[in-house]
Amino acid sequence: MPSFALTTPLHDVPGISARDADALGLLGVPNVGHLVAYLPMRHEFEEAEAPISSLEPGRIVSARGEITATRVAGMGRKRRFEAVLCDDSGRLDLVWFNMAFLRDKIGPGTRLRVQGTAKQRGHLLQVANPRFEILDLEGEPGERDSRLRPIYPASERINSRAIERCVGRVLGPALEQIEDHLPEAYRRERDMPPLAESYRMMHAPESEDEVVSARRRLAYDELLLLQLGVHLKRAHLRQTLTSPALRFDGEVDAHIRERFPFALTPEQDAVLRDIAKDLSSSTPTNRLIQGDVGSGKTVVALYAMLMAVATGHQSALMAPTELLAEQHFLSISEMLEQSKVRVALLTGSTPSADRGAILAGLVAGEIDLLIGTHALLTESVRFKSLAVAIIDEQHRFGVHQRAHLRTHATSMEGSGDDPTTPHVLVMTATPIPRTLGMTLFGDLDISTIDGLPPGRTPVRTRVVGPEKRPDVYGWLRTKLDEGDQAYVVVPAIDDGGADAPMNLRRLMRDLEEGPLSGKRVAALHGRLNRDTREHVMARFRSGLIDCLVATTVIEVGVDVPNATVMVIEEADRFGLAQLHQLRGRVGRGTKPSVCVLIGEAKTDDGRRRLEVMAETTSGFVLAERDLEIRGPGELFGARQSGLPPFQVADLTRDLELLAMARRDAAAWIGRSPRLAGGGEVLVRRRLMKRYGDSLGIADVG
Ligand code: ADP
Ligand code: MG
Repeated sequence: MPSFALTTPLHDVPGISARDADALGLLGVPNVGHLVAYLPMRHEFEEAEAPISSLEPGRIVSARGEITATRVAGMGRKRRFEAVLCDDSGRLDLVWFNMAFLRDKIGPGTRLRVQGTAKQRGHLLQVANPRFEILDLEGEPGERDSRLRPIYPASERINSRAIERCVGRVLGPALEQIEDHLPEAYRRERDMPPLAESYRMMHAPESEDEVVSARRRLAYDELLLLQLGVHLKRAHLRQTLTSPALRFDGEVDAHIRERFPFALTPEQDAVLRDIAKDLSSSTPTNRLIQGDVGSGKTVVALYAMLMAVATGHQSALMAPTELLAEQHFLSISEMLEQSKVRVALLTGSTPSADRGAILAGLVAGEIDLLIGTHALLTESVRFKSLAVAIIDEQHRFGVHQRAHLRTHATSMEGSGDDPTTPHVLVMTATPIPRTLGMTLFGDLDISTIDGLPPGRTPVRTRVVGPEKRPDVYGWLRTKLDEGDQAYVVVPAIDDGGADAPMNLRRLMRDLEEGPLSGKRVAALHGRLNRDTREHVMARFRSGLIDCLVATTVIEVGVDVPNATVMVIEEADRFGLAQLHQLRGRVGRGTKPSVCVLIGEAKTDDGRRRLEVMAETTSGFVLAERDLEIRGPGELFGARQSGLPPFQVADLTRDLELLAMARRDAAAWIGRSPRLAGGGEVLVRRRLMKRYGDSLGIADVG
């Protein structure tokens, strides 16, 4: 019997040195169980070892022997380290280019195992840049058959081979102690190997097929646990909380629509039907409304908020920036001007006297509709009866904030037996690829506003190098002369040093003194106070400003139909999602619009991003491409979500597994909504350990 358990610290495992145990600890691997779960990132094929005399040129060969001579030859960048390897049968020449430092590691008498492609040089056989392993005399490993060698994520203190050795010390006995959280029949139906077997196949595979099979099982596990968590949370919510069932009939509908200055598109109507159905039930709504930039999500939100008001409740709209909250407040107040609905704005810039009045108004039910930033989530904000809470531009928040909003709003309702919680709607511009949406927002119902309101002309996009800047601004001037308005976006306000050559202050000065002299140019950025910001926006909207030079504060929500030109400086510094949002500020009226991206991509990814921008205006396509270019971990939303990253699952490749995990989790929670059955102890424990905190379900059930 092994003298260790899965929880045994690596320091207590015979055969693992204190140095290696320390190094593994720093990699986040403190004990035996963690080591088994520390998976190789890939595998390399290793040829079987053979006597040197039997090796043939033109093949990948593997041999072991003793170094008999070494030297450093050549000059400067052409320097190379040469060595002669001998075994009982013959001699093999080794050469490493640009690796003269090897002379400190390899000398006469060193025993090596090497692998590489053999070449005939004269009558000698040579391997250039072989992979090698120094064999120490005690415990020299036995001769190798061909095999797949696991390559682990290593560190400066411990290399992959040493990790492999440590894994070798624990693997067999550890696997015997690993219990599977999936029942055998369940696994068999899905053609999945047992958990312990999967770990064995990752660490010591006998074939490529084994690696594939093990990966599939472990990736499925990761996806399944997350989906189970998400569905568990949803089931819990539906069982324990209720929301006000809102009145919905022809009269309410007509009343609300009267407020809108335009007729809704069929796409907006379709989404509204979903929402109205949700809100008229007492089951808490959790719905994601996605629609590309400019698709008209605001009125849809307003509609939902007015349903709450029509039934005598309150509603709240939370935006990610103060500027956007202010813009919403203005446009919504305008639409409600002739009505009795009382609207308030609450952000971090609200003066404290106003703030006090607003808070009192909310508790007393004298404010119907509150618009704000995450300032809405502070403890002191309490409603009399909040029925609808909306988060705009959800991708700028994280999963946490949505959970937080729900908890916050729920506790606000006081201490009835049957706690009520608002219906929650989250709005986002499409750039959440379907796959990611399924993962991060697996607990949400999703509605999509396809297409834009009528009368829009697609934005034309051009990518130019910085040398074209004078032409761009010369052309911009002619557009302003014709009465159009423009945005110019820069990455920084002040001098950001060598890696941010363009900044707002300098560009403002250059433009005012140069190509745009005599035009009305104004700056807009996050450091302005609210009054100034509102003043600038109001003047821009009414045409008193020709050109707005701004930071990315205008990224979301700004809506001025007469603005037809968007110039983005140093466009290569922005991500695709951000460029798309920025570009979405133009093309909002009937006039054709143009977006000019000035930039010189320093990386391949940067160049591809700019190319994709020029190719498509569809946020959906962009999101999918973004996922391909950057990978899911890098994507907005994914990182902000607060979820631990997947180790094995890869959202760009594992679509089918994800769909399967989603279906399976839904069915599982459907059967067992609390995941509290006798056979579910293990799955539940593993789920809570991994996602309990990030999903906020640690106390569920
Ligand atoms: P987003 O989905 O990006 O939040 P908005 O809600 O800001 O889009 O809407 C973009 C613009 O389209 C606004 O000026 C809005 O008034 C206008 N709009 C929305 N719906 C319609 C419609 N059905 N017909 C005409 N214009 C519309
Ligand atoms: Mg919007």
